[in-house]
Order: sequence, then C-alpha cells, then structure tokens
Amino acid sequence: MVKPHAEKTAPASNFIRAIVDADVEAGKHAFRRWGGKPGPAATHSGAPADTAVIRTRFPPEPNGYLHFGHAKSICLNFGLARDFNGVCHLRFDDTNPEKEEQEYVDAIIESVTWLGFGWETAGEKHLYFASDYFDFMYEAAERLILTGNAYVDSLSAEQMRTLRGTLTEPGRNSPYHERSIAENLALFHGMREGKFADGEHVLRARINMTSPNINMRDPVIYRIRRATHHRTGDKWCIYPMYTFAHPIEDALECITHSICTLEFEDQRPFYDWLLARLAEPYKLPDQNVLEGMLQTPLPRQIEFARLNLTYVVLSKRKLIELVENKVVDGWDDPRMPTLVGARRRGYTPEGFRRFAERIGVSKADSWIDYSVLEECMREHLNEVAPRRIAVLDPVKLVIDNYSQDKEETCSLPNHPQKPDLGKRPVPFSSELWIEREDFMETPSKGYFRLFPGNRVRLRYGFVIECTGCDKDASGNITAVRCNYFEDSKSGTPGSDTYKVKGNIHWVSARHAYSAEVHLYDRLFKVPHPGAGDRSYLLDLNHNSKKTVVAQLEPALRNALSGERFQFERHGYFIADRTDPVSGEPDFNRTVTLKDSWGG
Ligand code: ATP
Ligand code: MG
Repeated sequence: MVKPHAEKTAPASNFIRAIVDADVEAGKHAFRRWGGKPGPAATHSGAPADTAVIRTRFPPEPNGYLHFGHAKSICLNFGLARDFNGVCHLRFDDTNPEKEEQEYVDAIIESVTWLGFGWETAGEKHLYFASDYFDFMYEAAERLILTGNAYVDSLSAEQMRTLRGTLTEPGRNSPYHERSIAENLALFHGMREGKFADGEHVLRARINMTSPNINMRDPVIYRIRRATHHRTGDKWCIYPMYTFAHPIEDALECITHSICTLEFEDQRPFYDWLLARLAEPYKLPDQNVLEGMLQTPLPRQIEFARLNLTYVVLSKRKLIELVENKVVDGWDDPRMPTLVGARRRGYTPEGFRRFAERIGVSKADSWIDYSVLEECMREHLNEVAPRRIAVLDPVKLVIDNYSQDKEETCSLPNHPQKPDLGKRPVPFSSELWIEREDFMETPSKGYFRLFPGNRVRLRYGFVIECTGCDKDASGNITAVRCNYFEDSKSGTPGSDTYKVKGNIHWVSARHAYSAEVHLYDRLFKVPHPGAGDRSYLLDLNHNSKKTVVAQLEPALRNALSGERFQFERHGYFIADRTDPVSGEPDFNRTVTLKDSWGG
C-alpha cells in the first residue's frame, strides 16, 4: 500500500485528516491514474498511476475578493495536500457567467500565493478553470438524457416550485417528465443552438419527486442564459447549474477529497448520484455499451463548518455592498476582512496559518472570537517585528539643562528578546516629543510618569526630573519642562543607581519623521452584525478609523511599503503606501499590544 510521507506529528488532527488517513491507509485511491491534465476516463485510462497521494482543491468563484473564511478553506485544502504528499488544485469555479471577472481571478491568485501556497508540483501547474469543462458538461448532460436520467422541462419557474412540494409534502412529476429520449435530445440541442428564449426550457435530472431530500426532486441542471462569459464569451447560451457542474469538475480533476462547507451536506446525495450515473457503463437498447465517462474511484465530498468570526461579515455579497456603498475605501481597506485588506492592515500569512491550525476543523457550526485571530497575528509579529519608537499623541518635552546645540545618540535594541537583531543609534537632543498622556500636572493616584518633581527614565536614554509645564492662553499644555542627569545614560556605568518607577518613550523633535498613522478599530460594534432581522449595516462602527499625525523615530522615513514594526507600547504597525512625491510612507496599526502599558 502507498503510505503517505506525512509529517504526522506536526498538524493537529481533525475529523477530515482522520478520513484521509483511513482512505490512504486502505489504499482507496492508490490505483487512480493521472493523465497529466483534467479529463474524462479516457484521458486517464492509459496513464501511469497518480503520484499525488491525494488531490484536494480550492474552488473559488471569481466574483469577489477572498475573505478570512476562504483563508480557512485554503489552509485546510492546501495543508492536507502538503501533509499527505498530495496536490491541491486552484480551480476557478466560473460557471456562472454574470458576476465573474478577470480582476477577481488575478486578485485570488495573488491572495493564495500570499498565504504561502502554490499549485505547481513536479512541473505541472494545477490551476484550472471550470469553464474549460463546458464541453464535457454538455456531453455529460447528453449522456444523462440518453440513459433516461434527464429530461427537458418547459414549466415556468413558478410552476416548478409549486410541484416541488415542501419539507413535509412530496413533490409531483412535471407533465414533461415522460418526454421521450429523442424529444429531450432534440430540445436540449435546440437550447444550445439558441432556438429558445431564456427561461423557456430547462434540463432536469430525473430522480425522484417524492424524495425526502428536496435536492433530489429532479434538480435543474442546465438553463438558458444569454450572458457573456469572462472566458468563453458568447460561445454558450446555456450554462450548467452549480450543483451539476461542481461534482463533474472534481471528477475530471481526479479530486480524491472534495471539502466544502456544511450547507452542501444536503447536496451530497445528488453529488454521489450524478457521478455514479456518469461513471457507470450503460447498455443501449441495441446492446451497444456506452463506456463510463469518469474515472473511478469517484471523489468523496466532506463537509466542515464554515468560519464564523465575530465583529465582521464574511459573505461576498455583504462585502461588495460595503465597497459599493463606500462604507470602506475599497476591497483592500485595512478594516475589510478580505485577504487584500489584511495584507494592508499588516496581518501576516503565518498568522493566518497559525489561526487555521488553532481553530481546527469541525462538523459543528460555531463562532470564533475575533481576538483569536488578533492573538495569532500578535504572536507572529512579536517574533518577527523589529521595535521602533513612535509618539502618537505628541507634546514637547524641553530639557532645560541640555545644551540646545548639542546632540548625541542613544542605542536602542531592535528586539529586546533577540539580542542578535542588534541595536540602532537614535538621535537625542534638548527638545523631544513625548506622549501627552505621559505627563500629568496633578498626578492621579498610582501615576508614575511625569509630573512636577517626579523622575522617570527616558527609555534607553537619560533619567529626567520634571520641573513644570508651559501653557497657552486657554490653559492647554504646550510643553513639559525638565532637567536631565548627565551620568544617567542607559548602558553607561552607574546609570542604574537611578531608581525610577516610570519609563517613557521619546523622539528627538529636531530629527523626528512626522507621518500619518491610521488607527483601526473593529468595523462593527457588535459581535454578530445583522443578527436576527437587523440589517448588518445598522451595526457599523462609524469610528473604526482614526488618523493621527505622529512623530516617529527618523529612520522610519525610509521604511519600505509592507515593512512591519512594533511601535513600543503601541502595538504592531505596517508601512502602508508611500507618498508618490516624497517616497515616504504612512503607517497602519495592525493590532495593539496584548498588555497596555502600566503606570
Ligand atoms: P460567500 O458566501 O462569501 O460568497 P462562497 O462560499 O460563495 O462564499 P466561493 O468562492 O464559492 O465563496 O468559495 C470558495 C471556497 O471557500 C468554497 O469551497 C467554500 O466552501 C469556502 N468558503 C467560503 N466561505 C467560507 C467560510 N466562511 N469558512 C470556510 N470556508 C469558506
Ligand atoms: Mg459561492
């Protein structure tokens, strides 16, 4: 038996892994063949055994940008393929001509790549388009007609609905249920040739109108729809229904495990029925045999619970509305739960993969708290993000006993827990920017930062003693005043004889890089936007973005777009877009630090 070369220790097990494990163990897919490209049985029959132990797929419809829910599915499908020595296909499920666009195809490819996954193995590129299978799907529909498993129905949609029955009442056969094979074939060909108006006829599977599963009550499999497709143009005026197309796409690609979300559970009987009908040989009345069209064993559908995340909406329809109503500044607005938004927000691919591992995969619907995702990002950023200094709400600090012409440098560690990342020089001078909240004229109880008469350490610099503050006519504090102790510089002998309780950060005013910093909050005010009958739009947090002009340590002027940092005491930030003229970046806050700074 072919054994997977999986690292069985690394990823946490879940019920899907257990199924795959058992299938691999039993050799269920060991004798599948792979003809080098997707196709019907004939493509694969003479080919060597498939070297991919399993085949999974991620099948987005190119009608929007990928969101965090898709990330779960991507990590699951590509992760399984990786761990079982298999292959994961990226397949665009573009069988619905109306809402699909190349723009989305490009963005999806970019996002899957960004998450760290690829579809190229052993020189083969497993990037597929369902629309490439339209010819086969049409033949498959013809086969169903020939074998008595499909018929053309000419009822209106309304009439069909009436006959379909309900959960408690069986359906009834359409008056067109008994059409002959010849008549069905002729009508179906006519549909393709454009002889009928949209909606005039449909092709339906002939299964059982009294099935307790409504999806088995002769589902529609092809409809007439005059619409220009983003890849096939006007070649077709009939299009397959999703429930018909999807199983066929899986089978043509020799997918072993077709993983989808729970709402497709009731479709599984049709998935299995359809593929079984197409895979079985059929004896014609004249004794000739039609060979099975699909390779066996057939793909197996497995359902898992979709990701539900608090404080966001994960539905392309709703995300499109947010963009179209200009609630956000586009698909890649850092507040959007899209992968392009996450990227600008500073979330990391590693953080998403960690998140997918942590939340696991289950059969039961549940909600994951947004903080779980943030914690995964924080953990990863804590490891990789170099430390920098930023003053987000600046007020001047004047050191009266430090000469105005003097300047020197202080040495700041790039990562306190990783000394190997080294230190950097940061300029120091007589006027600094500090956080407004780091001074109180009349301190509250337990306040250890600056107030007249108190000493604090300027982090990685000198100890100072506050002497007072300046105010404008209306009483606003315009500067804080202090004196410094020359022999207290961090890292110099004897500096630690100064014992202070407060430790504040600073940036030299003369050298600071003044930049816009965008602080984001949750896009929705409530954990379950739109719960009940409410419109989710009523739950929007209208203060989800705040922009401040911050004073940053000078080197941040040269940060490259996409570089991530921890701004000490404030959280993790990413250099966003650079100004086209100056080339200088502004910054987005990715996530705050876990513990707010005490004092
Ligand atoms: P939406 O409801 O947002 O439009 P969708 O399921 O229609 O999503 P597709 O492009 O058809 O979007 O989905 C591609 C794949 O991503 C599917 O296999 C689907 O099961 C999976 N997927 C979509 N949303 C989630 C989610 N919230 N959690 C996990 N997987 C998801
Ligand atoms: Mg969909």
